[in-house]
Amino acid sequence: TQSRERLPKWLKTEIPTGQSFDSIKKKLRTGKLATVCEEARCPNIGECWGGGKGTATATIMIMGDTCTRGCRFCSVKTSQAPAALDPLEPLNTAETVKGWGLDYIVLTSVDRDDLPDGGSVHFAEVVKELKRSVPNILVECLTPDFQGNLEHVHNVASSGLDVYAHNIETIERLTPRVRDRRAKYRQSLEVLHSVKKNNPRLVTKTSIMLGLGETDEEVLQTLKDLRAIDVDAVTFGQYMQPTKKHMKVKEYVTPEKFDYWGKKGDELGFLYTASGPLVRSSYKAGEFYLKSIAQ
Ligand code: SF4
Ligand code: SF4
Repeated sequence: TQSRERLPKWLKTEIPTGQSFDSIKKKLRTGKLATVCEEARCPNIGECWGGGKGTATATIMIMGDTCTRGCRFCSVKTSQAPAALDPLEPLNTAETVKGWGLDYIVLTSVDRDDLPDGGSVHFAEVVKELKRSVPNILVECLTPDFQGNLEHVHNVASSGLDVYAHNIETIERLTPRVRDRRAKYRQSLEVLHSVKKNNPRLVTKTSIMLGLGETDEEVLQTLKDLRAIDVDAVTFGQYMQPTKKHMKVKEYVTPEKFDYWGKKGDELGFLYTASGPLVRSSYKAGEFYLKSIAQ
């Protein structure tokens, strides 16, 4: 991990807490589900949980804690034979989240290349149970690429979710160096494109890490590639090296540069662009979503 002293000042932040933060934090203690927000000690927790009225957002990870992939930026555990899925997960997740009083939940998962359907039916079941138990909750799914299997993508896309997110992570040239070898830039575009083609009303979303050695032209090209397939929302954040074994940070991108990409995203016609050094793909997702559909 980066030593805190050597980080640029804009990455050393105190965590601000907002209105509903305390009440959500208390409620989150009930139930046995952990949020990614807490486990990753995400610096945005105050803003996401305590966001404006009707926008409290949290992220949880489903389908286990062990991934079949090994992306070079990610510290999730890896195995080719992770534990079997928990058949009670859809029901238990819905029951727990019901008590939390959130407005918007991001469901993310490890990749499950070991399963014949990549876990897509299970993923969809979690969404369906959530929508049944917590009728007003908005659900975003941050999904694997399902190896480009569009039937599996469709299983999730037709589950009743509100936002379909899949992260492109980086520009095309760096993809083989940054992501697991099974992940491909064009394949990820195809996943997002097929979701939109099947259901144009679904909001599609993706996320790009900066600081990996990408050039401005390459970032701009990626934004254009995403707009060309009608991706609605994009987020930019600084890549942070999780441990010494992971890819090194090439550059700490300045807040001004993040602002620049935020404006570029707006210019290019994305429904919303969240861009900042500490932004993660689920950053204030509820707030951004509600603003964008109100436009
Ligand atoms: Fe949680 Fe994502 Fe917000 Fe971080 S950015 S607090 S992980 S919802
Ligand atoms: Fe991490 Fe996702 Fe890559 Fe798995 S597929 S190693 S969870 S980034």
